[in-house]
Amino acid sequence: MTVPVPPYVPDPHRDRYAVRTAGMTASEIRALFSVAGRPEVVSLAGGMPNLAALPLGTLSAQVARIIAEDGLTALQYASAHGLPLLREQICDVMALEGITAHPDDVVVTVGSQMGLDLVTRLFCDPGDVVVAEGPSYVGALGSFAAYQAQVVHVAMDEHGMVPQELRAALREAANAGQRVKLLYTIPNFHNPSGVTLAAGRRAEIVEICRAYDVLVVEDNPYGLLGFDGRTHPALRSLDPVNVVYLGSFSKTFAPGLRVGWVLAPRAVREKLVLAMESATLCPPTLNQMIVSRYLATHDWQGRISVFREDYRERRDAMLAALERYMPPGCTWTVPDGGFYVWVTVPEGVDTKAMLPRAVAARVAYASGSGFYADKSGGRRLRLSYCYPTPERIREGVRRLAAVLESELSR
Ligand code: PMP
Repeated sequence: MTVPVPPYVPDPHRDRYAVRTAGMTASEIRALFSVAGRPEVVSLAGGMPNLAALPLGTLSAQVARIIAEDGLTALQYASAHGLPLLREQICDVMALEGITAHPDDVVVTVGSQMGLDLVTRLFCDPGDVVVAEGPSYVGALGSFAAYQAQVVHVAMDEHGMVPQELRAALREAANAGQRVKLLYTIPNFHNPSGVTLAAGRRAEIVEICRAYDVLVVEDNPYGLLGFDGRTHPALRSLDPVNVVYLGSFSKTFAPGLRVGWVLAPRAVREKLVLAMESATLCPPTLNQMIVSRYLATHDWQGRISVFREDYRERRDAMLAALERYMPPGCTWTVPDGGFYVWVTVPEGVDTKAMLPRAVAARVAYASGSGFYADKSGGRRLRLSYCYPTPERIREGVRRLAAVLESELSR
């Protein structure tokens, strides 16, 4: 039976919502998913990993085994802290980026998005300042807005966040009497800019934050996806006391399992476990066991190399197409890993206003304004090369370039 769509009525609850809901706005990217998902549209908008290299047959046999042999545990509630074996394995994953950590200091979360939400919940009162790269990850901006924190952006260049700019922003906030609680940063293969924080800047940024008594939140879902296979020392490896680290299996294994983690100093970790309990009782037991079994029995690092190769080929296709098709005056970043290229278009083009025309021309992207708390970034757009095939990427960029050409001649 199909139920007819109910007629529109004004929201009878509109006067009841908590003040903080005013900061909750629909993500432009999510709003796009329905159109961008149409097969004739080449979507360079979303950040969905390409899962084609996953060993689905083996995985399904393993899930069946977990349920057959350990089902009463896998389908039961478990600790809010996360399964002990998985927390140990997570420490081995983080060791690849120079982190030495005790499994007790790891809290398993429902994706790193939940880690972001919980960390913001622990630290931010309304009006507190969070400093973040400009541009920054949409989902993080959403969490900060939901807790009514104010975001101050710090400029980036091709080597990541600029330390002098960070220092200036912190000084200015202090002079204005503002309380800066967090520095939120994505040091590797940044979303959306694609750039990586230079080695020499890492220690400097950690030091500046210590000097200004600001906690660093290091968000690192892409760190193992560097195209040359190299990893960069995590900020957490430089300062185990003043850095909270967020990790995820979404880009290196499977986002649908929703398994991520937070590594935090002990006192913060204890509060995080309490926050986990009140948010969701415990992370999903079965999903944690699937990840744990995968790490224990698969050549997961080999699998990540396959993902990396695949993404490198797509990145190359995108860069070559940008070079070939884009009109003069456009510039873009050259990522060494991860999923994204950040494009700057000529003066006079507004990427948000252009988006419906691009979708009509059967190509979608993420317009720049969504990546800034103040909705600036009108001359920028994010292109994701992670999901479409190289041929689709070439075709998508060709269509985008044609839309830009006609925009410039309007
Ligand atoms: N941080 C960044 C920078 C991301 O790009 C994403 C996903 N796009 C997340 C966090 C959230 O990832 P998940 O919740 O799937 O772990």
